[in-house]
Amino acid sequence: MELITKAPKGTRDIIPGESEKWTMVENVMANEAELNGFSEIRTPVFEHTELFLRSVGDTTDVVEKQMYTFEDKGGRSITLRPEGTAGAVRAMLENGMPNNGYPIKLYYKTSCYRYEKPQAGRLRELHQFGVEMFGAAEPVADAQVIMLGMSIFERLGLKDDVQLAINSIGCPTCRAEYHKALKTYFTEHKEELCETCNSRLERNPMRILDCKSPICGALAKNAPKITEYLCDDCAAHFEKVKSLLTEVGIEFTVDPGLVRGLDYYTRTVFEFPSSRFGYALGGGGRYDGLVEEIGGKPTPALGFGLGFDHIMLALKEAGTEFPTESKCDLYIASMGEAAQLKAFKLVGELHRSGVAADCDLCGRGLKAQMKYADKVGARYTIVLGDNEIESGKAELKNMKTGEKKKISIGEDFLDAYLTETTAQDDLAF
Ligand SMILES: [Zn+2]
Ligand SMILES: [Zn+2]
Repeated sequence: MELITKAPKGTRDIIPGESEKWTMVENVMANEAELNGFSEIRTPVFEHTELFLRSVGDTTDVVEKQMYTFEDKGGRSITLRPEGTAGAVRAMLENGMPNNGYPIKLYYKTSCYRYEKPQAGRLRELHQFGVEMFGAAEPVADAQVIMLGMSIFERLGLKDDVQLAINSIGCPTCRAEYHKALKTYFTEHKEELCETCNSRLERNPMRILDCKSPICGALAKNAPKITEYLCDDCAAHFEKVKSLLTEVGIEFTVDPGLVRGLDYYTRTVFEFPSSRFGYALGGGGRYDGLVEEIGGKPTPALGFGLGFDHIMLALKEAGTEFPTESKCDLYIASMGEAAQLKAFKLVGELHRSGVAADCDLCGRGLKAQMKYADKVGARYTIVLGDNEIESGKAELKNMKTGEKKKISIGEDFLDAYLTETTAQDDLAF
């Protein structure tokens, strides 16, 4: 029985009390993205495995160890998305979005799946907010995407807790020279490198700069810097991005250790680390080579992903207060069958007008009903009994002030209710 009453390792439920906060934060992100001209895209939770082999690359840890890959009943290899970008690129191409012109700006709120080691306490289902922009090669696009990320943190009240680290990793041309320099440098220290980095030395020396092992980390500190190997175009692009960020007052540090190990990444890479919380809240960069890799025409592209789970944790640690609003405007208590039917009908009428209302669903006595109304924070209550049904009038009680008013429960109930209460101001539409 344990199996069916326990969620799988690395997953968790977002339950009422928490889910409202998630929605609020998602709305802030989505709203900020929309201010910047991004539109929401929703892609399937699983894709053909081939898509991720192409995009995430088969030399990264994600593919080597962490993908949720399985064969479906038709014998196809299917993978639960480990990140959001590949699906967005695939969908952008498949739906012919480039036909409507560039730039294409997409955002998404998704869950991603990685088979992380359970002892590390890491999540296997992660939540991510991401944006992708296609068809914009100019440095101003990089600056806008970075600024969007910073605006989100500002609106979440995390401005002082999140920093911006940026770097440029050049283009395939200038990176070839850099790879050579790195190989030469690390080969001299081959014995000291960890086992993983030893295998990276041939395939992808830049990934050694990413290694979490302290020895490799120390070696990486003295390694040649990519910024010294940038070609003229890449150097000019990087300078422009930095000056644009400075123009809009966004502070940043250049972190030469900030790299992406895959060939399709180009030029700007960035991260949103937090010295206060000790973990990064997201990151992104340019990936001008990816669309072509997935089968489209060469298309400049860039984006970022924010780790939703980390951001919610950061907000909790920061003691962020979320507004708590009652979800019940009116609770109609009732005694007797006729009153119960009336309460049911009035509640339905309120719902159709967009007013949050509730009545008894558990066959409780009046006292228990009022206790429930209190628990859900109803702003107003009405008690219906035989007298009220007969006279067509009931007492509307303002639960905050204790003030009571007679109100019609007949044909004109809705008008009377809206006139007497503040519900009118809260109507969403
Ligand atoms: Zn270059
Ligand atoms: Zn290493």
